[in-house]
Amino acid sequence: MNALEYVPVPAFEDNYIWLVSDGHDAVAVDPGEAAPVRAYLAKRGWRLSAILLTHHHQDHVGGVADLLNGLGEGAKLPVYGPAGESIAHLTRRLKQGDRVTIASPALEFSVLDVPGHTSGHIAYFQAADPAGTPHVFCGDTLFACGCGRLFEGTPAQMLDSLDSLSALPGDTHVHCAHEYTLSNIRFALACEPDNAALQAWRDKASALRERGVPTLPTTIAHEQAVNPFLRSDVAAIQATLSAQLHEAVPDRLAAFTLMREWKNRFR
Ligand code: ZN
Ligand code: FE
Repeated sequence: MNALEYVPVPAFEDNYIWLVSDGHDAVAVDPGEAAPVRAYLAKRGWRLSAILLTHHHQDHVGGVADLLNGLGEGAKLPVYGPAGESIAHLTRRLKQGDRVTIASPALEFSVLDVPGHTSGHIAYFQAADPAGTPHVFCGDTLFACGCGRLFEGTPAQMLDSLDSLSALPGDTHVHCAHEYTLSNIRFALACEPDNAALQAWRDKASALRERGVPTLPTTIAHEQAVNPFLRSDVAAIQATLSAQLHEAVPDRLAAFTLMREWKNRFR
């Protein structure tokens, strides 16, 4: 089997549109705009063979119509997306447990329901690439050192969704849809200033961004070590939340809820 390449194509201010390619064909995940995808495909000589969507927000679906229009007469592209959201151009509507099989590039995904950011948000999990590495495309659910805002879901839903992502193999490459890492790390350090892995990640991520290099993908194991939203059960974090926000923190859901609210107003 051919090796696969996973490429974050920058779009808008801070979005990544992930392309997965075998060197000939490519799938695009969450193409919020068409132009950068087209330009990248042309540069590499790749042909678009499918589109995967995680949720209905414009910065993730806005380029779909344009990409489909550019295909020429009669050409058809499968467009996968969440069953629970209203999105134009979907050819297949997916929910928890569904499987996606793409012929070229050869890809197989299982679908996870990960509500919270939006109510029908899904993630695509690939158990093993040709080299044996697992991958997940999680849209705006899990970010490097952060998590998505709760536009349509409850803290309990988002915590469940993050738990199901956190239960994936530790070496799973996590392909998030935004480059939010540095500002997320600033907040994470406010939650957990003494986390040595987090301090080291701040230095490494800052150096990457200074050179304009993406901080992604991250991995599940790394997020478990540094991401406060996957660490709401850690006593030091709960103590910080309680001291900073003058609130009781009886359990991890309370900690997660307070943390998410604090992050919304954190500067
Ligand atoms: Zn979104
Ligand atoms: Fe987004």
